[in-house]
Amino acid sequence: MNRRFEPEAFARDADLAHTLKAVGVECHGFNASLLAKPGTVLSGAGKPYRVFTPFMKALLQTLPERPATPAPDTVIVPAGPDSDDIDAWALHPSSPDWSQGFDWTPGEAGATAVLSVFIKNALGDYAVGRDIPGRRSTSRLSPHLHFGEISPRSLVWAVRASASQGHVAPAQADKFIAEIVWREFSAHLLHQFPFMSERAFRPEFDAMPWRRDPEGLTAWKSGMTGYPLVDAGMRELWATGWMHNRVRMVVASFLVKHLFIDWREGEAWFWDTLVDADLASNVQNWQWVAGSGADAAPYFRIFNPVTQGEKFDPAGHYVRRWIPELRALPDRWLHAPWTAPGTVLSEAGVKLGYTYPRPIVDHSQARARALEALKVVSSRSRDGEQNGVFMREGIVRP
Ligand SMILES: Cc1cc2nc3c(=O)[nH]c(=O)nc-3n(C[C@H](O)[C@H](O)[C@H](O)COP(=O)(O)OP(=O)(O)OC[C@H]3O[C@@H](n4cnc5c(N)ncnc54)[C@H](O)[C@@H]3O)c2cc1C
Repeated sequence: MNRRFEPEAFARDADLAHTLKAVGVECHGFNASLLAKPGTVLSGAGKPYRVFTPFMKALLQTLPERPATPAPDTVIVPAGPDSDDIDAWALHPSSPDWSQGFDWTPGEAGATAVLSVFIKNALGDYAVGRDIPGRRSTSRLSPHLHFGEISPRSLVWAVRASASQGHVAPAQADKFIAEIVWREFSAHLLHQFPFMSERAFRPEFDAMPWRRDPEGLTAWKSGMTGYPLVDAGMRELWATGWMHNRVRMVVASFLVKHLFIDWREGEAWFWDTLVDADLASNVQNWQWVAGSGADAAPYFRIFNPVTQGEKFDPAGHYVRRWIPELRALPDRWLHAPWTAPGTVLSEAGVKLGYTYPRPIVDHSQARARALEALKVVSSRSRDGEQNGVFMREGIVRP
């Protein structure tokens, strides 16, 4: 069997292997879901890496210089009970069919097709293109990777081959491989520090005085915060089950820092709605944005949703696609409609508070509130480091 390394799946597989062994059945576990087995990439001191770059360097050295083993031509299938017909399970949603906007062909053939299109059309400009949500410039392989429909090793091999044949610059392939390694870093961290799916990786952040704000949370989930880039992202997620990475960072930062709502609320919503929902990547990225994770963004770096929109969606392709009520607003005001003169708004058919919400928080005030809370946490952190109480080690599994 192919191994999975999330804490529950890991324990389940160990139980299964144990039970099979007890009845005399040999059981072999293989690692196809990750580039390296968690626990095998350790620092010189034999400890898990907590910083990404040295982890990546060490991991890439372990990769074999050959492609992934091809699938066998035939598989001997043991005689067993009849299988159900999967269509008889009626898994596809029908009343209503909320999956209409979902753009995936599950399975290995779907994954391979997506990879070829990506290598042909987007890999050559990946380092820059990956930040532009209005373009199809990332691979969209995340659900295929999550469900084991394509292996990370075959991806690394394919993009390296494209670079060595001169189709793309090696730096573009390396950037893509670095993203695959972020996935790997998340999986290794969760395996080694299983508490991080529920608690802050840096424990001093567990003392953060999060707000309870059901109305703010609902506005965020439904794409009605009044900040166009945030709302576009949340609507893309709801309609398609996927959201662009740059926008995931912006919406996550907005929830945690502008609304000051616990990152676990956002993580739970992503878990319910993403087609690529993956415990390790989801938890690690939420904690990265919140500042509480391993090698995380500093807490005081607060994304400004307006300038992020102006920088990464300057012509408004992304916002206009997901927020039709703002389509006619000129680019200049698209990412901050409340700053537009009344005549501009009425010519664009926008009536703030009616056709599109006013901002539910003021950026500067929200920023000041978040920074104030940080002061408390960082002073605890210093105290904790002095007397050692916050230096909790995770469990390192074999
Ligand atoms: C708050 C937040 C939550 C996230 N939750 C998830 C999640 O549940 N599942 C998930 O697969 N990704 C998650 N990501 C990471 C990232 O957004 C997606 O992997 C990426 O957007 C998927 O699109 P893609 O396949 O086109 O990516 P590409 O840019 O084509 O990258 C290729 C692959 O690299 C991996 N990758 C890229 N970026 C990251 C990253 N930051 N962290 C981990 N792996 C990465 C993914 O497996 C991805 O498929 C999250 C990011 C944020 C900021």
